[in-house]
Amino acid sequence: MKQLGYRAIMVLCFIALLAGGTALFCARYLGDGSDWAASRVNSGVYEDGKLRRGTIYDRDGDVLFDAVGGSYADSGAVRKATLHLIGDRAGNISASATKLMADRLVGFNPIMGTAMGGHDIFLTVEASLNAAAYQALDGRKGAVAIYNYKTGELLCSVSTPTFDPEKPPKEIEGNSKYEGVYLNRVFVGLYAPGSVFKIVTTAAALEQIPDIESRSFSCSGSLELGEHTITCPKAHGEMDFARALAKSCNCVYAQLAVELGGETLQKYAESAGLQERMDVSGIKTAAGSYTVAENEGDLGWSGVGQYQTMVNPAAMLRLMGAIANDGVGVTPQLLLKETVESGRTVASGRSDSERLWKAETCEKLKALMRNTVVVEYGAEKFGQLNVCAKSGTAEVGEGKRPHSWFVGFVDDENCPLAFSVIVENGGSGSAVAGGIVAKLLPDAAALLQTAEE
Ligand SMILES: [Zn+2]
Repeated sequence: MKQLGYRAIMVLCFIALLAGGTALFCARYLGDGSDWAASRVNSGVYEDGKLRRGTIYDRDGDVLFDAVGGSYADSGAVRKATLHLIGDRAGNISASATKLMADRLVGFNPIMGTAMGGHDIFLTVEASLNAAAYQALDGRKGAVAIYNYKTGELLCSVSTPTFDPEKPPKEIEGNSKYEGVYLNRVFVGLYAPGSVFKIVTTAAALEQIPDIESRSFSCSGSLELGEHTITCPKAHGEMDFARALAKSCNCVYAQLAVELGGETLQKYAESAGLQERMDVSGIKTAAGSYTVAENEGDLGWSGVGQYQTMVNPAAMLRLMGAIANDGVGVTPQLLLKETVESGRTVASGRSDSERLWKAETCEKLKALMRNTVVVEYGAEKFGQLNVCAKSGTAEVGEGKRPHSWFVGFVDDENCPLAFSVIVENGGSGSAVAGGIVAKLLPDAAALLQTAEE
């Protein structure tokens, strides 16, 4: 009897183990099944290590990558412009749609496995706009991003240098022309912001210095701060706060940084979302950083976007969208929809949003950034579009041309576009990066019009 009892317990233990194992398997199958199906060892969906299902399209149905035939877009400019979104054949570009959305392309579901055939993916970008951005960069390294700040849809996301994935160059390693070619600069690039950071200092000053809007300032072209000399390209003379931003006066902004203090600027860089990583349809962006300086000189320079501050172009894009959106930042996204063979949509892209800054502060920033365009860059450059913007010309070391930045948005409910452009060693921010924005915005605006019709 004693023996029988012992056996019964053993049997019960085995049953419990089996049930537990089955439950664990089911849980993992439901959770990770799509990853297993999309795994490179699954010969049903891979051939010679290449995905053999599904097609990636742009927002209006132009083929960007046909996984069945393994071929890219017909146009060479489109192939180069979308390389970082689609990925290369060798798999060197890690954060690409083909890798991150492999489970969607494979068409996995927990009941049918992959038997139902591959799915198609529509990205939010427009192929022709990406090609135009690639051409506007004109062989220079940099990043161009334009998105709909209401929906989060990225219409344009181009990183250079790039190459044609149909004809990858042989001499990439050690060739300065291809430096960092496998990085998508829009999502993982980190740059000194230069004067575009003055937007952060401006937000802090608007909220923390009560009389900021009625103050008057004076610039003699240089300012001694501790051991450092802060300089402007010329003496800006007497000015109010709006003019200090429009003229991008380093002397005024360095003084404001000292008045605000490093901890306050750090807090605003953080609430601007510039120090966090975002999830762009599965792609993780790089987090920027703001370091609180030890002395007044460095603190002054940090307020004008120099010193050790680094920002990511996509984070800048979201911040611009947030200012346009009364303070709510919508995370950019790349996935428009996933469809099955019949054309039925089985998944749509989603964007997270979070409040970055107060609506009242953003209202004031809009007016200041609009004023900057009107008095400094020339509103006619952007035609009928009500553009609010800030340029940046970020010093990157002696003997090197500065990086050229241009960030901003269209202040218009019916044309909710924000942009973030950086041209490495491009020179003047408003002329070079601003010129690219002026070239691309009308086409981007036309895309929103077509979508409404
Ligand atoms: Zn000045």
